[in-house]
Amino acid sequence: MLQDAVLSEFNVNIEALMAFDGGKWVWRGDPSGDFSIKSIRAIFCEAGQSLPPPWAFAWCKLIPLKVNLFMWRAVQNRVATYDQLVKRGVQTTSVLCPLCGSMDESICHLLSGCSFSSAVWSLVASWVKIFNMFFFSVVDIVKAVDFLPLENTTRMALCAILFTTCWVIWLERNEAIFNKRQHSVNRVFNDIKSVSFHWVGNRLKSRKLSWEDWSAFKM
Ligand SMILES: [Zn+2]
Repeated sequence: MLQDAVLSEFNVNIEALMAFDGGKWVWRGDPSGDFSIKSIRAIFCEAGQSLPPPWAFAWCKLIPLKVNLFMWRAVQNRVATYDQLVKRGVQTTSVLCPLCGSMDESICHLLSGCSFSSAVWSLVASWVKIFNMFFFSVVDIVKAVDFLPLENTTRMALCAILFTTCWVIWLERNEAIFNKRQHSVNRVFNDIKSVSFHWVGNRLKSRKLSWEDWSAFKM
């Protein structure tokens, strides 16, 4: 959400650049109203700051702004996982990952090393037919599509799936902490498929996406 927007940390007030108009958020940083890495770069430039390098790889047009911002924070280790809260002097009842309960929580663990998340990634990998999907860091996730010989639409769709997977794992983590509930790996995977279908289907301009094609990852 906008309240979570991160540009303020770099002395750029993102909230002043957004407007809720006609039922959707409009980006005032660009005349088209569409959020883009180009407009962000220009804003950073005007503010006399350079763009954090990882962000240059972390933009996906097929998913909402809030998810891109989450990934941006994740790459820079700026998500409020237990390790970061402890670093800031916040008292927590636990430091263990709420999804596996066996390791200290960090964003790197949560999104890549966690046994629960790894099981989710395994289902995602089978779905998109990429069987060597192993990540050791958030940057690995963000850069994954760069190294695959994929056609552009497939590359964007895969990027959307990777980012959606991170986002849904994050929501699952919050559900476990705040509502003391944890869903099955299969349920989380099904959420990733349906949420990403909704997001990509609404944003993909080159073709109409069917659920059957999405379920088989036929782009
Ligand atoms: Zn874990």
